[in-house]
Amino acid sequence: MHRIVVVGGGAGGLELVTRLGNVLGAQSRHPKAHITLVDMNPTHLWKPLLHAVASGSINVGVEQLEYAAQAQWHGFHFEQGTLHALDRAQHCITLKSPIAEKYHTLSYDTLIIAIGSLTHFFNVSGAETYSFALDTAKQAEQLRCHLLAACLQTQQNTSPPPLRITIIGAGATGVELSAELRHTVHTLRNYRLHVLDPKREIQITLIEASSRILPALPERLAAATSSLLHKLSITTKVNAVVTQVEEKAVHLKGGEIIPSDLTVWAAGIKAPPVLATLEGLEVNKQGQIMVNPALQSINDPDIFALGDCASCPRLGYPPDVRVPPRAQAAHQQASFLFKQLKSRLRGKPLTKPFRYRDFGALVSLGHSGAVGNLRDGLTRQGLFIRGWFAKWLYLSLYRLHLAALHGWRRMILDTFGKWLSRSTRPRIKLH
Ligand SMILES: Cc1cc2nc3c(=O)[nH]c(=O)nc-3n(C[C@H](O)[C@H](O)[C@H](O)COP(=O)(O)OP(=O)(O)OC[C@H]3O[C@@H](n4cnc5c(N)ncnc54)[C@H](O)[C@@H]3O)c2cc1C
Repeated sequence: MHRIVVVGGGAGGLELVTRLGNVLGAQSRHPKAHITLVDMNPTHLWKPLLHAVASGSINVGVEQLEYAAQAQWHGFHFEQGTLHALDRAQHCITLKSPIAEKYHTLSYDTLIIAIGSLTHFFNVSGAETYSFALDTAKQAEQLRCHLLAACLQTQQNTSPPPLRITIIGAGATGVELSAELRHTVHTLRNYRLHVLDPKREIQITLIEASSRILPALPERLAAATSSLLHKLSITTKVNAVVTQVEEKAVHLKGGEIIPSDLTVWAAGIKAPPVLATLEGLEVNKQGQIMVNPALQSINDPDIFALGDCASCPRLGYPPDVRVPPRAQAAHQQASFLFKQLKSRLRGKPLTKPFRYRDFGALVSLGHSGAVGNLRDGLTRQGLFIRGWFAKWLYLSLYRLHLAALHGWRRMILDTFGKWLSRSTRPRIKLH
């Protein structure tokens, strides 16, 4: 049987392997392929939820999915391991085992690489050591526990100084995190876990190197977000380039020093370094695998890549414009590749190119709702939305991911079940 190996069970990889397992794998009436998912972790959490884990508004224990169970339900195999090397001639990859420093190989006929991206610290001195990043659920949990401990510690001082939280990078991740953290410190006080004044004694500062927040999104979206951040007493500093991070301070170009008790780095992403070491696969300057419009490596027709780790040309744009690293792109590429792989197994040529459809951008501001700009196809500016409708659309993105993993019926039941259990659970995780 044809062996398909998908490395990386994230927003794109897990959706792809689930669909492949259902239709071509052990779950189908006439299995046509032996499908294996490899991930370095045993569980999956949709990455755009990480800031909500950091703020405690979702419980990672409730939301994460066990790969082994998903594999059993959907007819594929799961192996926990970290991609270490590639041997194109032998058609196999080397995986590092999670238990001991052991390595083993796994053979493939078709290999799909979907290992996402990592935080880029741009070699800023002290950034990696003294700031929190949001790449994994474990890091998000560490940030949450640190915030809780910092609140308790600050109030125990006889004359508590303010607790200073600094978020570096005012892209969507930084902005959403700042709003969520503001809500968290209010809620922690409502549950009497600290007695600090959430606005006066807990200061949140967002630092951005560009001339405005949300530099990659439309200006009016940024303007609406700015005024909401102002209402939440979140200070924004633009045109501020960070040169150094220390345990209790952030240094800016020009000499300004911002005292900081808790620093989060949300200023950029890069491809995982392992990709640049994979034998014979060309990567771009950011370390992403170069793929053609069929998502096939430009060096090897048996290797495909999707999501944040792939550099895919964007059809209809100049050649240097690539598909952006977003969950909606990973989702669309997974659906596209699913159809491509079915054709490949039937021996048909892969002639259809991937066309990214940008539906717009949504930014969630915790309990203050959300703002968004939807592509309406009629106007250049698109349709501006805000409030609870925008929030509902934002939450729908995650529901779409769940529907891709579990089917619509189970997704609706899951949503309803969680809604019912809200009355017996605190609004945020408290320990
Ligand atoms: C806090 C935050 C908020 C975001 N919000 C949004 C949003 O609102 N909208 C949006 O469109 N996008 C958002 N994004 C971006 C979005 O999460 C990514 O674009 C998307 O997850 C990319 O999907 P992917 O499948 O390429 O990779 P990922 O979802 O990152 O999955 C990669 C998988 O590969 C595994 N892996 C990594 N390295 C290895 C290895 N060496 N060996 C084996 N397995 C490995 C990982 O464990 C992971 O399971 C957000 C990102 C963050 C961090």
